[in-house]
Amino acid sequence: FASTMMDVPLQVRRLLEHGARIHGSSRVVTATDEGVRTRTFAETGARAAQLAHGLRELGIGSGDRVGTFLWNNDRHVEAYLAVPSMGAVVHPLNIRLFPEQLIFTANHAGDRVIIVDDSLVPGFAKLLPALPKVEHVIVAGDGADLAVFDDLDVAVLSYEELIKDRSTTYDWPDVDERSGAAMCYTSGTTGDPKGVVYSHRSIYLHALGESLPDVFGLSSRDLILGVVPQFHVLAWGLPYAAFATGCSMAMPDRFLAPEPLARFIAEARPNKGAGVPTVWAGLLQHLAANPDVDVSSIEELVVGGSALPPGMLRAYGNRGITMVHAWGMTEMSPLGTLARPPAGAAPVDEERYRLSQGRFVASVEPRLIGPDGDELPWDDESVGELEVRGPWVADAYYGVDDQERFHDGWLRTGDVGVISPDGYLRLTDRSKDVIKSGGEWISSVELEGQLAAHPDVVEASVVGVPDEKWGERPLAAVVVREGAAVTFEELREFLTDKVARWQLPERWTIVAEIPKTSVGKFDKKRLRRSYREQELD
Ligand code: ADP
Repeated sequence: FASTMMDVPLQVRRLLEHGARIHGSSRVVTATDEGVRTRTFAETGARAAQLAHGLRELGIGSGDRVGTFLWNNDRHVEAYLAVPSMGAVVHPLNIRLFPEQLIFTANHAGDRVIIVDDSLVPGFAKLLPALPKVEHVIVAGDGADLAVFDDLDVAVLSYEELIKDRSTTYDWPDVDERSGAAMCYTSGTTGDPKGVVYSHRSIYLHALGESLPDVFGLSSRDLILGVVPQFHVLAWGLPYAAFATGCSMAMPDRFLAPEPLARFIAEARPNKGAGVPTVWAGLLQHLAANPDVDVSSIEELVVGGSALPPGMLRAYGNRGITMVHAWGMTEMSPLGTLARPPAGAAPVDEERYRLSQGRFVASVEPRLIGPDGDELPWDDESVGELEVRGPWVADAYYGVDDQERFHDGWLRTGDVGVISPDGYLRLTDRSKDVIKSGGEWISSVELEGQLAAHPDVVEASVVGVPDEKWGERPLAAVVVREGAAVTFEELREFLTDKVARWQLPERWTIVAEIPKTSVGKFDKKRLRRSYREQELD
């Protein structure tokens, strides 16, 4: 029985046109050396059209990949909108990857043009000789010494020169909503990074889903601080959600250290923010040491990418800022769940809800699979591996056959946890990080969260290390507050009423810093390796 509805394709260009026209006065605010630079959505839309004309003149057409090597800023937003809208594919390169991984991803994606921030030119120029497919480099900003490109066989142009005097409208093509619009690579903590290609349709639906009241709750009255990098999982899709809703964006560019970030907040005055725990932890420390910094504009901060430590929820709560926990992954565009307590939740239960990974967003369908492959009940107790499917979930990697990850139309997330009867997810670990001690599982995330709540602990990470008797036991690596004289016995004692006795770590080490991945997560692989090396010494 046929519907009587229009079959209008869901395309990025519709988000661009909607935001630029209907929310023309919403803003993209970018941090610069000289304060902030503000452009309206109307200007951003016009500049995106100009960029598309410029790229077309360089020969970019349908399906061509345009790489970006940019911080979070207004030009990066323009590229996010222009490139897919013209039918090409935007590929943000993770500027923090190791050079060999960056070279791998740019070559594997087949980037023909790369747009680079002037501040990143020196590092980028070193990669170029290994990128034979790149024909044009477009330098954004005029602060770079372009002589570094002199001996390289590539055409170098200025972004502003490229778009100058071009038409501010573009006759966007009618692309298939299922075609590729953007691509991102996972950070490749194991093996080569793997590429995910997002479609126009997946980006569009994700933007709407993300904006919902119980999700990010975005509106044209909001200004969101986007700390989550545009070079990682499309900045959680925020630029697209912003153009769908008119939510203004505050983009910190390269000013990500706590001190300049706090200054940017005081100046731009966002009421929301999105970032990983390490960023919010750094900001918190800075605020504690500098009580005069004004971050009073902020009402809530979405935190995801790694688990939200309980101490962080409380410390921000004491400042009147609500931490909103979210979970997702590159393969999921990234949004899967977001933690807001349900209607009628008793105040004593509120914290438990906020510390869970949250409720599933409409369009993301989960199931829990037990060790023997059976589906487990949602009883808040049965621990299994989480699988998901939905219109913004990947069902393959670009150019790689991975039967392990994608099977029967489901994505195996590699995350382990429980689901409550009312649809809240609580992750206990990543399957590869879970500590298997004498047939029982110890949650490294649980121990980390509890330890981080100790007043003398700045950061803590827990990994499983080989143990003759138990197979594996937890090793806790702790960064201690400067000047604190806390002992391992005291830390162990602190945990005794918080976790089961048999889960208490007996191996401890003090470190100056927990090693982090390119996107600010604890690098447990490196931690395990340095433990092994210590053992051998
Ligand atoms: P990478 O594999 O490059 O680190 P992602 O950023 O896509 O890529 O990482 C996704 C993973 O990060 C998830 O599978 C999960 O293990 C972890 N993760 C994301 N958000 C959370 C969260 N709120 N709590 C715990 N783990 C999280």
